[in-house]
Amino acid sequence: MAFELPKLPYADTDLDPVISAETIGFHHGKHHNAYVVNLNNLTKDSPLAEQSLESVIAETHGKADKVGIYNNAAQIWNHTFYWNSMKKGGGGAPSGRVGELIARDFGSYDAFRTAFTTTSVGQFGSGWGWLVIDGGKLKVVKTGNADGPGWMGLGKPLMVVDVWEHAYYVDYRNRRPDYVAAFLDKLVSWDFVESQLG
Ligand code: MN
Repeated sequence: MAFELPKLPYADTDLDPVISAETIGFHHGKHHNAYVVNLNNLTKDSPLAEQSLESVIAETHGKADKVGIYNNAAQIWNHTFYWNSMKKGGGGAPSGRVGELIARDFGSYDAFRTAFTTTSVGQFGSGWGWLVIDGGKLKVVKTGNADGPGWMGLGKPLMVVDVWEHAYYVDYRNRRPDYVAAFLDKLVSWDFVESQLG
């Protein structure tokens, strides 16, 4: 059973113009897909090929001789979570349970927005900006390269923004702050965040 590229939860034109169809086409069709192709090649004829993605990540994380497998498996997981973190017409301040938790743990939506932006923009080089729940409390954390909070003891992920340059360079060039602002204001799927609270 080979690892597969998950379908996007929307059409590749649906996030346009916040994220263009060109970016989605390359990001999902080339980058995300390449991680799947690489992982299948690297795990071919190995017991890892029969395991779940989560199990492959858990088994290879922190092992110097498995770093290639880890990087590709973790990038597949992170990208799938990123696509689910967005929707057409999303973003802005959430209401309901998520809105209440944000007010409780950050003080206000604006304070959350500032914290998420500062953390995501401040990730040096490639990586990810996350909203997590850790010990019952919402937090914002960043991870570098392929790392993710779920397997690093940083909390259960609720949503993520990809801050690798390939996520925004076509649409925003070097302006990562503008991309993160657009993600927060126009794309975040708060329904997905709520679904991850459990
Ligand atoms: Mn990416």
